[in-house]
Amino acid sequence: MTSLWLRDHRPEPASSPRPGEQYDHVVVGAGLTGLVTALLLARAGGSTAVLEARHPGAVATGNTTGKLSLLQGTRASAIAARHGRETLRAYVDANREGQSWLLRYCQDHGLHVDRESAVTIATERGDTGAVDAEFRACRAAGLPVRKATPTELPFRTADAVELPEQAQLDPILLLTTLISDLREHGGELYSGTRVRDVRPKATLGGRGPLRVCLDDDATLEAGSVVLATGTPLLDRGGFFGRLHARRSYSVAFELSEPVPRSMYLRAGDPTVSLRYAWRDRQRVLLVGGFGHDVGRAGSEQAHVDSLVDWATTHFPSAVPRERWSAQDYDSIDRLPYVGPLLPGDDRVLVATGFAKWGLTNGTAAALAMAGRLLGGHQPWARPLRTWRPSELTSLPSAASLNAAVSYRMASGWTRLAMSKLRRNEATPCPVRPVCTHLGGVLEWNDTESSWDCPLHGSRFAADGRVLEGPATRPLHPKPLHPKRPPDAVPHSARPE
Ligand SMILES: Cc1cc2nc3c(=O)[nH]c(=O)nc-3n(C[C@H](O)[C@H](O)[C@H](O)COP(=O)(O)OP(=O)(O)OC[C@H]3O[C@@H](n4cnc5c(N)ncnc54)[C@H](O)[C@@H]3O)c2cc1C
Repeated sequence: MTSLWLRDHRPEPASSPRPGEQYDHVVVGAGLTGLVTALLLARAGGSTAVLEARHPGAVATGNTTGKLSLLQGTRASAIAARHGRETLRAYVDANREGQSWLLRYCQDHGLHVDRESAVTIATERGDTGAVDAEFRACRAAGLPVRKATPTELPFRTADAVELPEQAQLDPILLLTTLISDLREHGGELYSGTRVRDVRPKATLGGRGPLRVCLDDDATLEAGSVVLATGTPLLDRGGFFGRLHARRSYSVAFELSEPVPRSMYLRAGDPTVSLRYAWRDRQRVLLVGGFGHDVGRAGSEQAHVDSLVDWATTHFPSAVPRERWSAQDYDSIDRLPYVGPLLPGDDRVLVATGFAKWGLTNGTAAALAMAGRLLGGHQPWARPLRTWRPSELTSLPSAASLNAAVSYRMASGWTRLAMSKLRRNEATPCPVRPVCTHLGGVLEWNDTESSWDCPLHGSRFAADGRVLEGPATRPLHPKPLHPKRPPDAVPHSARPE
């Protein structure tokens, strides 16, 4: 499945840095967060390299819906309920900074952006409370929202809140421009280069450069490392236990009826997202949503089918074009994590937990991380820092998330013992479906033909290559002649 944005795009060819090369800054990950961070660091004159395991935009950014909005479904009310209004204001300020930076960047570089309203809608009476709470939270945070009655939708809404003058864009055109700009400022980008580890180089005093370890045992040296990898690739800091991986679906449709202009998001379950995009000077309708926890869907294809059913019921002329899916990470306390991987050490920074709002949050994170490395200070970044006191109040969520993970692990392993491994051994599948991150039992994703981990969201191709998530090593190949369990070996054949 390939997104509308990536369909006609020729990805960067793979390339490798020279082993032993030294950089002021190494940025891991060429999505939006990594490329904006790298550009800011390169502009400031630091020698900067971006290392990308696949190709730029391969993971979330190239598969996003591409809305650049400060009205984000029901997120403001969720943050206000958990953290209060002051933190919500800081979150909105951070997103406003990210949005303004990107809009200015697009304008300066001649990139097309559509300015449209963002609208959160309730289609059921039961969801009107959520829309009303969002209206009140946004007002309290200083956003000029208003109640609305959409007239361009082919179904009734029970309530709606609208924020005018938001934006939508093509994320791959944006990444391509950022890459040229990075190179013009002396920055380097290496695709097909997976980072396996980052360690301090043994030096007297212990605060020397970092060693960045690559797939093929090559290493680089860096003064600082930014992990802009969606979920951090290093387990130090335990971020994988504080994040929740959610996957959802998108389909682009051609319509013969008028395509709605505003960007809609349905409050309630399942989430449904609408926007238009331009193809061959025609508007196509993007429908997104119908998400689930990674590796816990039963059948992913059933979610795509439900999305297509929903769209063709409400837009009878809709003909599907591209279909794709992607995942993002939500933190246990709803706020992104931006800052040091370990407390008190600014040499390795991480940015994650954007909860499907990473165009504004990821850009804000890039501004905050580059500011931190270059000596700047952004007051709005404070509530987003990685080691914040509100984490303590989120421990029950972390406990229940990790209880779910433990349950999955235990039940997964039992099932594995009972049936899966046996079935896998009996099929021509070349790999063992056991995650190389923390040993979770993988589930087969029947729409992407991948192995997905229900514990922390790692995903692997059918041949075992890492696709995304915290894992850095491919799946182990299945032994050609699997050992028979001892019980199955006839007694007479056992060695004395
Ligand atoms: C379905 C969906 C719809 C969304 N819609 C919106 C929207 O409308 N508006 C919005 O604001 N946000 C949206 N988002 C969220 C947004 O797309 C993401 O938050 C954002 O793109 C994250 O960017 P990133 O650069 O942090 O991560 P990514 O784009 O995922 O980039 C991370 C990169 O790191 C690389 N990498 C990972 N591990 C390694 C390693 N070990 N070595 C080297 N490289 C590595 C990956 O290959 C990847 O290219 C959506 C997300 C999803 C899933």
